[in-house]
Amino acid sequence: HADTAMYQSKKSGRDTFQFYDRMMSEGSLMDLTLLEDMRVGLESNQFFLEYQPQFDLQSGQLIGLEALARWNHPKKGRVPPSRFIPLAEESGLIGALGDWVLEEACRQVQRWNEKGYDPILMAVNVSQRQFSDVNLVKKVKETLQVHGVKPSAFEFEITESLLAESPQMAVAKLSELRAMGMKLAIDDFGTGYSSLSALRSFPLTRLKIDRTFIENAASDPGSQGIVRSIILLGRELGLNVIAEGVETNAQKEFLLRSGCVCGQGYLFGAPMGADEIVKLLARSPPAQLRGIAS
Ligand code: C2E
Ligand code: MG
Ligand code: MG
Ligand code: MG
Repeated sequence: HADTAMYQSKKSGRDTFQFYDRMMSEGSLMDLTLLEDMRVGLESNQFFLEYQPQFDLQSGQLIGLEALARWNHPKKGRVPPSRFIPLAEESGLIGALGDWVLEEACRQVQRWNEKGYDPILMAVNVSQRQFSDVNLVKKVKETLQVHGVKPSAFEFEITESLLAESPQMAVAKLSELRAMGMKLAIDDFGTGYSSLSALRSFPLTRLKIDRTFIENAASDPGSQGIVRSIILLGRELGLNVIAEGVETNAQKEFLLRSGCVCGQGYLFGAPMGADEIVKLLARSPPAQLRGIAS
């Protein structure tokens, strides 16, 4: 086992050694164990994707899916992404994990295509470190091509902090992805520090209103104001707007009244396996996104 650990860490390079050093000196052996488990898990099919459906709030039609990484640990059971994503990001393993997520999401789209289902928008989360990979654009292009996935039916979800960190790199990379036809969303919007003028310089297609604002949107005037402002901002910038974490009818009604086009949340459906998604796809063909050019 120790040999495997050595081999694996050599393979992923210097970053990992530095990370090990730091973790060792901080004495967080728990996380080191989990990191090693993750490495093994990635190579032995312990990871899989769930897909959360997104809907047009007015028509109720299915408009897209968000792919979410899941880890079934052989001893610990389900480990939540809030646990393993930050660890992967910090250690550099996010490169391998991100590649796998991209591959698997494309494979799934290909399977559905082959079964004759209409193409549906597939959104994938991309973390900061993964986004700064110099080979990202090339990788994405190749992976989509290999699986016959149309870039226009593929979306990256990135964060505001990523845009703030190195705006020039972000503009360049996003422009390349956008030129391919991919869609680009800002996840958890409203929690970061985007300025209006900065937002305009990124070739985005969608804002995802953070769940925390939706949570209080039916009762708290402050949250209502923020949600309304984001919807107006999206309209002003020509972006589609989707609310995440919609759990109640009261929240949905508020969103509809405020002019929000799309929603995602437990009210409509939790993240689910591909088999469950097929039932949705079979029921009715997915609709096109309103509010943006494809
Ligand atoms: P996110 O991208 O904002 O994803 C939405 C999260 O909200 C998901 O949590 C989803 O299960 C949860 N959610 C959806 N609807 C509701 C709702 O109505 N109420 C509540 N309370 N929660 C809802 P999950 O799957 O645990 O993922 C957490 C975060 O981990 C994600 O937040 C995303 O930032 C990250 N993540 C997940 N998969 C990946 C991945 O493949 N790559 C990267 N880089 N990050 C990922
Ligand atoms: Mg997301
Ligand atoms: Mg989100
Ligand atoms: Mg979130």
